[in-house]
Amino acid sequence: MQPISAVLPHDIHNEALVSNVHPPDWQNPEPASRYNLVVIGAGTAGLVTAAGAAGLGAKVALVERHLLGGDCLNVGCVPSKCIIRSSRVAADLCEAHQFGIRVPEGMGVDFPAVMERMRRLRARISVHDSARRFKDLGVDVFLGEGKFSGPDTLEVAGKTLRFKKAVIATGTRPVHPTIEGLAEVGFLTNETVFSLTEQPRRLAVIGGGPIGCELAQAFRRLGCEVTLFHNASHILNREDSDAADILQRSFIRDGIRLILNCKTKRVEKKNGSKVIHIECGGKEDEITVDEILAGAGRAPNVEGLNLEAVGVKYDKREGVQVNEYLQTTNPRIYAAGDICLKYKFTHTADATARIVIQNALFLGRKKQSALTIPWCTYTDPEIAHVGMYERDAQEKGIAVDTFIRPLSDVDRAIADGEEEGFVKIHVRKGTDEILGATIVARHAGEMLSEITLAMVGHLGLGTLSNVIHPYPTQAEAIKQAADAYNRTRLTPFIKGLFTRWFTWAR
Ligand SMILES: Cc1cc2nc3c(=O)[nH]c(=O)nc-3n(C[C@H](O)[C@H](O)[C@H](O)COP(=O)(O)OP(=O)(O)OC[C@H]3O[C@@H](n4cnc5c(N)ncnc54)[C@H](O)[C@@H]3O)c2cc1C
Repeated sequence: MQPISAVLPHDIHNEALVSNVHPPDWQNPEPASRYNLVVIGAGTAGLVTAAGAAGLGAKVALVERHLLGGDCLNVGCVPSKCIIRSSRVAADLCEAHQFGIRVPEGMGVDFPAVMERMRRLRARISVHDSARRFKDLGVDVFLGEGKFSGPDTLEVAGKTLRFKKAVIATGTRPVHPTIEGLAEVGFLTNETVFSLTEQPRRLAVIGGGPIGCELAQAFRRLGCEVTLFHNASHILNREDSDAADILQRSFIRDGIRLILNCKTKRVEKKNGSKVIHIECGGKEDEITVDEILAGAGRAPNVEGLNLEAVGVKYDKREGVQVNEYLQTTNPRIYAAGDICLKYKFTHTADATARIVIQNALFLGRKKQSALTIPWCTYTDPEIAHVGMYERDAQEKGIAVDTFIRPLSDVDRAIADGEEEGFVKIHVRKGTDEILGATIVARHAGEMLSEITLAMVGHLGLGTLSNVIHPYPTQAEAIKQAADAYNRTRLTPFIKGLFTRWFTWAR
């Protein structure tokens, strides 16, 4: 746990943030004799659980050891999307000449101003997650480290909270890579990178997953020399290679140096810089940088909760073990969000919190496997996905038909100069049942929800062909894919019938 004083730099924005999400003068309330629900961790999962349960009339305690809002507000989605926005402006200005726009001399990135904008907006958004707001919603907010102390009790800051049900929503923290010398030379993670006020001239990013890719591109576009290390043959290896290839080309155009499939052997400090020694295909090389940012996975916050004492099974890498109903191995204790999920996103933390409210408080039987989970990596272009990949279908022995529309065939994408990308939709073979989709586009995350809605509402791809899309929009690519499906219904037999009909009708 980082002390509150680690929310750097000390400025009016961070002061406003802390006064919302960990008020220095906060007085923990006197605990109720017993709570319907005690929630440990006030990230998205904990906040949604607490607000929802209290809104329904339950007596709820919410326990947070650091900042309400958790990763998403403080060191995750919110700050990253703020700086990504600035980096897109910088990239657009660099390419302005392609749109017939002359940019005046002297254009440049004011890095401290980019970071200050981020801190200002984060502080503004933090009102939604503020301790006072949750108090007003009827939640007893306790600031301090929560630890189970008995079958129905949790200790926090010297107080004992008795519960009927409890929810573990303690999230994750960044994994510290085990590279020789790295700890000694020092490195940034998502917990510290958003505190930067000066731009590192040369930045190494370790890890080409969503966090590493988003931040590598953002920092490159803000003017850093960026080297991205990833230990696989393409970045974002969860995504299809055709999608990742488009992003890799975009990274190379941006000037990111990609080091794929190499072994990072050790790091040392030399003349005030950090030197990374790597081995690629039997050859040794070294890369000199000013800062190293580790985005190499997440570790669940399971330590210190005394989970053994309450019979909650966990794994130090996978987190808290839960069943379909998000119940832990102790039936009175549930879990939600990153601490127990494979898909670690704010929207899954939110969705699982809603399941927990129903299952823990109302004898509900909502299953996590019933969720249709989309996600998006907010690079440029974005890569958004929902449902199955083709390889998932193959593994399950499900035959699919796949419809792909390149954005280079979509008028709006051509007009926007954003032709690199595609919409790819998989349906169960011979039917229009949508099984999964990937979109690569500048605003793929915004486009994807139409397909997610269709999947949740059991609407087939044929129905999407009947949806009128305003012209010109990039989302027309979805309709084009649906039209392509419709054309497959015109079998030679049906076409023969039509031909005979038209011959007769002439
Ligand atoms: C850089 C970055 C960018 C991201 N961008 C996106 C994005 O664009 N979209 C998206 O959907 N997701 C994104 N994510 C993921 C998202 O932030 C997480 O999925 C989400 O925050 C999970 O919420 P949570 O409530 O499960 O956990 P957390 O947000 O981690 O909250 C857990 C809380 O529990 C507290 N806690 C832990 N142990 C204790 C204890 N013993 N007692 C009391 N409190 C405790 C912690 O202090 C923390 O506040 C991003 C993550 C990162 C790191």
